[in-house]
Amino acid sequence: MNEQKIAVVTGGIGGIGQGVSRCLLNHQRKVIATYLPFEEDKAHAVQADFAKDELHLYILPVDITEPKSCQQLYDVIEKEWGCVSILVNNAGITRDSSFKKMSQENWDAVIKTNLSSLYHMTHPAFEKMCRQKFGRVVNISSINGQKGAFGQTNYSAAKAGVHGFSMALAQEGAKHGVTVNTISPGYIQTEMVMAMPPHIREAAEAQIPVGRVGLPEDIGRAVAFLTADDNDYITGINLPVNGGIYMSF
Ligand code: NDP
Repeated sequence: MNEQKIAVVTGGIGGIGQGVSRCLLNHQRKVIATYLPFEEDKAHAVQADFAKDELHLYILPVDITEPKSCQQLYDVIEKEWGCVSILVNNAGITRDSSFKKMSQENWDAVIKTNLSSLYHMTHPAFEKMCRQKFGRVVNISSINGQKGAFGQTNYSAAKAGVHGFSMALAQEGAKHGVTVNTISPGYIQTEMVMAMPPHIREAAEAQIPVGRVGLPEDIGRAVAFLTADDNDYITGINLPVNGGIYMSF
């Protein structure tokens, strides 16, 4: 039997991250979900939840805004299990406000967490993926990176940048069996979306052609598809997973 490939999901204990981790585990990957160092209790609780379904989720801390922390994560993984084959850059934050009111701090935090982190997390893994002639990198962007959103200049800029990164790196990985793709979720049922006042949520839901908000597993299935062993001819794409709320060519 082939050895299980190692998949890292940043923000793997968050809303979408859990759906992605679950799908990758169901596809027989060894999954390491990362959490922010101060979220250890939450990470253990998520791990225990997965165990109830007989899914073994590995958890490790990392702060993706810190290059040193990312390198330490890879040092632990490589010493324990070997090289990472699948990387899902999923962790992200929002710090919304109209541009007039946006502080430098909130601009920097979103760019650093949602965009610069792609360098910190992907750089230590990419060359090794090329050397082993297999790699799958999936970067989680957003519908709001595709079309912009009021109050999200920082977030929309970072998320649009995510796909620029994917397209460029895809060209560098193509000859080496390494694919790099983007997924752009629409509204996904996570704590953030469920915390919206019900009438606003219902109004948003009514706009979605499919008639429901997405589930974390909808993103998970897209990740499983893009990271399949034999899926080596799709690279540099943006895959929108949004129930049809934003269609583009
Ligand atoms: P969550 O807040 O549930 O998850 C985000 C995760 O990112 C958390 O697990 C958090 O870790 C982690 N994280 C934040 N900052 C850092 C950091 N500095 N270092 C390491 N990890 C960090 O959000 P979602 O699941 O909703 O979002 C996941 C991704 O999907 C994000 O990139 C988001 O922009 C994108 N997205 C979400 C949509 C939605 O409708 N929910 C729509 C479109 C895109 P911890 O749990 O330890 O705090």
